[in-house]
Amino acid sequence: QAKSKGRNAKHYFSNTKDQKTIDLISLREDLKLALERNQLEVYYQPQIDLKKDKVKGFEALLRWHHPKKGIVSPATFIPIAEETGIIAPIGEWVLREACKQVAKWNKEYNMEYRISVNLSLKQLYKSDFVAVVEEILKETQLPHSLLELEITESVAMADVNRTKLIFKRFHEIGVRLSLDDFGTGYSSLSFIQQFKISRIKIDKSFLKEITVDSDDYKIVSGILSMALQLNLLVTAEGIETIEQLDYIRENNCHEAQGFYFSKPMPPAEIEKKIMNI
Ligand code: C2E
Ligand code: MG
Ligand code: MG
Ligand code: MG
Repeated sequence: QAKSKGRNAKHYFSNTKDQKTIDLISLREDLKLALERNQLEVYYQPQIDLKKDKVKGFEALLRWHHPKKGIVSPATFIPIAEETGIIAPIGEWVLREACKQVAKWNKEYNMEYRISVNLSLKQLYKSDFVAVVEEILKETQLPHSLLELEITESVAMADVNRTKLIFKRFHEIGVRLSLDDFGTGYSSLSFIQQFKISRIKIDKSFLKEITVDSDDYKIVSGILSMALQLNLLVTAEGIETIEQLDYIRENNCHEAQGFYFSKPMPPAEIEKKIMNI
């Protein structure tokens, strides 16, 4: 039944839709080989401590150098990786790569940079995930407290009880947790309190068109004042202008990240621009 339905449906596809389907299938096939063909690279975006005006750490952001398409955005390929299950080996590779890199920087430059790594739902809910993280930290000799795992609100909320258990275990081993893209989901700060998280990252959509008396300003300052009362650290993402920076500073935001400071960059560029070598 499903088969004939599929065949019929095909007649309604426009050419562009057909093309999109073909693109998706070929991307899927290409992605399966990307890891072993060394097409994946971790970029790093500095996270700025707003009190000290210093780089506090980096967020690891994955890039795929596709042989024909050039750089493919993670917004495009991460969902494909999740859907096909390739996210498990890719995610583990990113985690290991990023921890290794930052441990190396910390040793070479005598620093204590933190590394933030994004997690997908399938990674977080994999039964041996906490053990995998512990193993990687041991192997790379990165102190537990310098790893922060970023989880989006929707991932955290997918199975609240399970999330609570996993977060509790990470809390116990001293690995930090951060709620990414905060404000785009439906969770309230009071609800989040039951998770052992140390930070929220205010989604960049709230900063995009922020002006003094805009609703976005009220939302951002509201989130900040509540988070501060609850002893949560706050990072604002997507800071592109000095005005945006002023707004979040006025509201005592702890850290910021955005093109105003720096785009995500490959390791060699980070070393040149941040470590000044
Ligand atoms: P995210 O974790 O919220 O990462 C922040 C995104 O905002 C990054 O996009 C970053 O390049 C971008 N960004 C940073 N500053 C600015 C700014 O000032 N303005 C604007 N407009 N954008 C800014 P990117 O690198 O394309 O990544 C998109 C998303 O893909 C990430 O959102 C994250 O959810 C996902 N992702 C990236 N790497 C990984 C990974 O290794 N694993 C998983 N599971 N997801 C990843
Ligand atoms: Mg993130
Ligand atoms: Mg984010
Ligand atoms: Mg995002």
